[in-house]
Amino acid sequence: MTDERPLSRFFRARVTAIADITPSFRRFTFGGPDLADYGDPGLDQRIKIVFPTAATPIDDMPTGEDWWTQWREMDEHRRPPFRTYTTRYVRNHLAEVDVDMVSHDVLGPASAWIADAQVGDEVLIYAPTTAHEGVSYGIDFVPPAHTDDILLAGDETAAPAIAVILEQLPAQARGVVVLEVPDEGDAAYLPAHPGFAYHVAARGGTRHEHLVAAVADAAGHLVPAGRGADVEEIDIDRDILWEVPRTAKGGAALKKAPLYAWLAGEAGAIKTLRRHLVTAQGVDRRAVAFMGYWRLGKAEV
Ligand SMILES: Cc1cc2nc3c(=O)[nH]c(=O)nc-3n(C[C@H](O)[C@H](O)[C@H](O)COP(=O)(O)OP(=O)(O)OC[C@H]3O[C@@H](n4cnc5c(N)ncnc54)[C@H](O)[C@@H]3O)c2cc1C
Repeated sequence: MTDERPLSRFFRARVTAIADITPSFRRFTFGGPDLADYGDPGLDQRIKIVFPTAATPIDDMPTGEDWWTQWREMDEHRRPPFRTYTTRYVRNHLAEVDVDMVSHDVLGPASAWIADAQVGDEVLIYAPTTAHEGVSYGIDFVPPAHTDDILLAGDETAAPAIAVILEQLPAQARGVVVLEVPDEGDAAYLPAHPGFAYHVAARGGTRHEHLVAAVADAAGHLVPAGRGADVEEIDIDRDILWEVPRTAKGGAALKKAPLYAWLAGEAGAIKTLRRHLVTAQGVDRRAVAFMGYWRLGKAEV
C-alpha cells in the first residue's frame, strides 16, 4: 500500500511547557495528538510557525496544499503572521516537539509571542511529516562526503541548528564552532562535541564583531589561502542572501573539500563573511552554505 500522506503539512500544536534554558534561549515544548506524525529529518531542518495575534487567529491561516498563494491573496491586515524556526527535539512517542526561540527587543509577531506565551497557547507549525523518509527540502547542511574540517558559525538564531548538527555529527568529525550570543550565560547552550573547538562569545559593543573576526581567523587556520574569486554583490535589503551549493538532486556540490562551512545569521554579517571567505581567503564557494536568517531593520515577511 502506498503512503499517501504529504511530506510536509501544518500541525496544530499547544504549548505544554516553557523553560528558560539560558538567559536568551527560551524552550517551548509543544504537544497535541497531531504531533505524533511530526517528521524529524534532523540537522538544520527549518519550519514555519504561525503565531496568533488579536486580529489574526491561527484558524484564519489557509492550510491546504495551496496555502502560500491563498495567504498572499489575503488582505495584509488579515493574514496570520508566520516566521521561520528550527526543530530542536522531536518525541513522537509522546507527541511532543521542542523549539528554542530567542526574543529580541524590536518586536515582531514572533518576539511578541515569545515574551507573553503561556502554557495552553496554540500555534500552527508547518513541518515535515514522518512520511519524509529522510528527504527534506528544509535542510541546508549538505557537506561533501569527504571533508577534513567543518566550520559552523552564526549568531543566536543559528544556535538551535548548530546544536542539532553537532549532536548528529559522528564523534570522529573535526571542526570549529563560532557563535555570537547576546549574553555570556548563553555559551552553555551548545552541546559538546569532542572533535570541535568552540569560539563562543557574548556580543560586545559592535554587533557581529566576534562572529566576523573569529570566522576569518578560523578559516585562515583551516584552509591555505587560495586564489580569491569575485562574488556578485547582493542587495540584502531587497533580496534574500541564501546560497546553498548542491547538485540538481539536492546532494553536496562537491565530493571532497578540505573545509565545509555552514554560516547563518544576520544577513549583513553573512554578506561580510561571504566576501571575506570567497574573495579574500579563496575558499571554494561550492563548499560553503551562506544563509541570511534575518535582516537588521526588516521583518521576515
Ligand atoms: C532557516 C531559519 C531558521 C531559524 N531558526 C531560528 C531558531 O531556531 N530560533 C530563533 O530564535 N530564531 C530562528 N530564526 C530567526 C527568526 O526567524 C527571526 O529572528 C525572525 O525574524 C523573528 O521574527 P519576529 O516576528 O520576532 O521579527 P520580524 O517581524 O521578522 O522583524 C521585526 C524586527 O525585528 C528584527 N529582528 C528579527 N530577528 C531578530 C533577532 N534575532 N535579533 C534582533 N532583531 C531581530 C528585524 O530586523 C526587524 O527590525 C531562524 C531563521 C531562519 C531563516
